[in-house]
Amino acid sequence: MHLPGKNDYIDIHTHDAVPVKNIFSIDVLMAHEERLPERKKGILYSYGIHPWHLNEFNQEDQLASVKKITADPLVIAVGETGFDRIRGPSMELQCRIFEEQVRIAERLGKPVVVHCVRAWDELLLQHKRLNPGMPWLVHGFRGKPDLARQLVSRGMYISFWFEFIIKPESAKLIRSVPKERIFLETDGADVDIRDIYNKVTLDLGIPVDELKSLIRNNFFDFFRT
Ligand SMILES: [Zn+2]
Repeated sequence: MHLPGKNDYIDIHTHDAVPVKNIFSIDVLMAHEERLPERKKGILYSYGIHPWHLNEFNQEDQLASVKKITADPLVIAVGETGFDRIRGPSMELQCRIFEEQVRIAERLGKPVVVHCVRAWDELLLQHKRLNPGMPWLVHGFRGKPDLARQLVSRGMYISFWFEFIIKPESAKLIRSVPKERIFLETDGADVDIRDIYNKVTLDLGIPVDELKSLIRNNFFDFFRT
C-alpha cells in the first residue's frame, strides 16, 4: 500500500478524487453509489453508508456492500457514516446502521469517518456506549471550541469544514484543537487543499512543511499504519 510522502498535502476527505502530484487523498466512496476502489497514485479510500442515502429499503444491500468492500486493502477506513437531524431517515435507523458499521470497522481494525449534523449528543452517546478501539474522525467540523474539546477528549480526530476554515474567524477554533488531532479536507468541493494548508499555517504560525509533517503524523496515528 502506498502512503503519503513527506512533501504531500493530505486531503483527508474528498469525493471523486483524481491523482494530483503531491496531493494524497482519501476518496470517500458511498455505498449507494456504484464506485469501487481502484488502484490510483496518491489515492486511498473510505467506504460506508451516508445517512442521506439510507432508508428502510436499501439498508440491507448497502450493509452487504460495506461488509464486502471495506475488506479491500485499498479501503483504509469505514464511512462516512453517522447522524444527521436535518436530512436522512429516523434517528433509530441511523443509529442501528452506524453501529453495524462501527462493528465492521472494529473487526477489520480500521478507523471510522463520521458525518454529524446537529446530533452531537447522539454521537457522544454512541461513542461512550460502543467504546471503540479504533479512532473516529469527525469530518466537516465547524462547531464551537468547547464541542471540539469534548470530541477530542473521547479520542476523536477533527477535520474542519472547507468553507469555514478559509475564513479569518476560524483561527480561534483551529488554535483551540490539539495539533495532533487535526486534519484538513476539501470534501470534493471546488477548492484547493494547498490553499487550505496555507491559510492554516498562518493561523498556527508555522511553516507549511511543519504543517505537512504534523498532518502526516496524524495520518499514521489515525490509520495505525
Ligand atoms: Zn463527504
